[in-house]
Amino acid sequence: MRCPFCRHADSRVVDSREVDEGQAIRRRRSCSKCGRRFTTSEQMVLAVVKRSGVTEQFSRDKVVRGVRRACQGRPVDDDALQQLAQRVEESIRATGVAEIPSHEVGLAILGPLRELDEVAYLRFASVYRSFSSIEDFEKEIADLRQAMAESAAQDDGEQDS
Ligand SMILES: [Zn+2]
Repeated sequence: MRCPFCRHADSRVVDSREVDEGQAIRRRRSCSKCGRRFTTSEQMVLAVVKRSGVTEQFSRDKVVRGVRRACQGRPVDDDALQQLAQRVEESIRATGVAEIPSHEVGLAILGPLRELDEVAYLRFASVYRSFSSIEDFEKEIADLRQAMAESAAQDDGEQDS
């Protein structure tokens, strides 16, 4: 990487440290020509493998774009979408894999989206899981109700104690 000050191609590393729990390395470099210092960062690329076999770098923006459609007309703002995309990325990185099939990205979206907005979740799940009948929706809504009842019961428990 060229020196940002004088464009010289050679530099030496004066310090390197792991950041993001070892998923990235930051290096402090010194230009061997002008002697000025700059910082570079090296990050493990999380690759998404598409059905065609082509891989592309995981993109939070893509997650946001995919979910935004399901959130149309819902009280979900851009901040909430960004946070959701961040949670999706963190949950995938936490599994420790370097490559993930694209359909598993969809799977990782379902959990956080369900917490964010039930209607958006149903829309997204209906496309992602290719719901083909009203029964698919009914079953999903029944599961959703049960999960909501369980989390409400948990909240009550926390308030009591
Ligand atoms: Zn330089």
